[in-house]
Amino acid sequence: MSSGSLYIVATPIGNLEDITLRALRILQEVSCIACEDTRHSMKLLSSHGITGKRLISYHSHSGLMKEEKIFELLEAGNDVALISDCGTPGISDPGSLLAAKAVERGIPVVPIPGPTAFVAALSGCGFPTHHFEFFGFLPHKKGRQTLMKKIAHSENTVILYESTHRIEKFLDEAAEHFPERRIVLARELTKIHEEYLRGRAEDIMMMFKTTPEKKKGEFVVLISGEKDLS
Ligand code: SAM
Repeated sequence: MSSGSLYIVATPIGNLEDITLRALRILQEVSCIACEDTRHSMKLLSSHGITGKRLISYHSHSGLMKEEKIFELLEAGNDVALISDCGTPGISDPGSLLAAKAVERGIPVVPIPGPTAFVAALSGCGFPTHHFEFFGFLPHKKGRQTLMKKIAHSENTVILYESTHRIEKFLDEAAEHFPERRIVLARELTKIHEEYLRGRAEDIMMMFKTTPEKKKGEFVVLISGEKDLS
């Protein structure tokens, strides 16, 4: 029997309308959906009229048994979709390991493209987009300073993910390592409070002091290339 396909399905990063027609069809058609948080995904699915689906939780702490369950279904000929809590699975989210193991086992892996926070942020930030470096979340401790130094010398637009709890720490470090570089914080993309905060690290810290609510929410951080200071 031929195996089913593993569909890597991108879902919204905020606005529930940002899901493709193909993603909705695939989610409707597959036998099972593997998702990070079943309750969170259930809301997305039911808002699009997809109900009664078999959901399996699959997250960064899921063990090998969960993976084996997914492969059992696939190898028995069932199609399985993988979704994460937001955006594209595998991009700073679980998924890349499952895809790698599926490839090893000869199972077709089919991406269903859609939102990714860093691509949306890059497209609207106003920095050069022809070359860029994406680092995802910076490590909290080991390797962080090395990466900050690397960013300080990057000629390309650099893109990072940062949480609301750590954004001020990041700006402090940015002011130390690359005070002259232009920074854009793409905040709450596709949501009610969506905005781009632009300036040098010090300017944005000042914005946070005068308007603390701007510190809240989800952020993509973009840093202009070393030679792109204007
Ligand atoms: N898989 C996702 C993707 O395709 O972009 C990324 C998931 S990662 C766990 C979550 C991080 O993505 C957040 O901490 C934030 O840095 C960024 N992010 C997600 N949604 C966002 C949004 N609506 N606006 C700004 N940043 C967002």
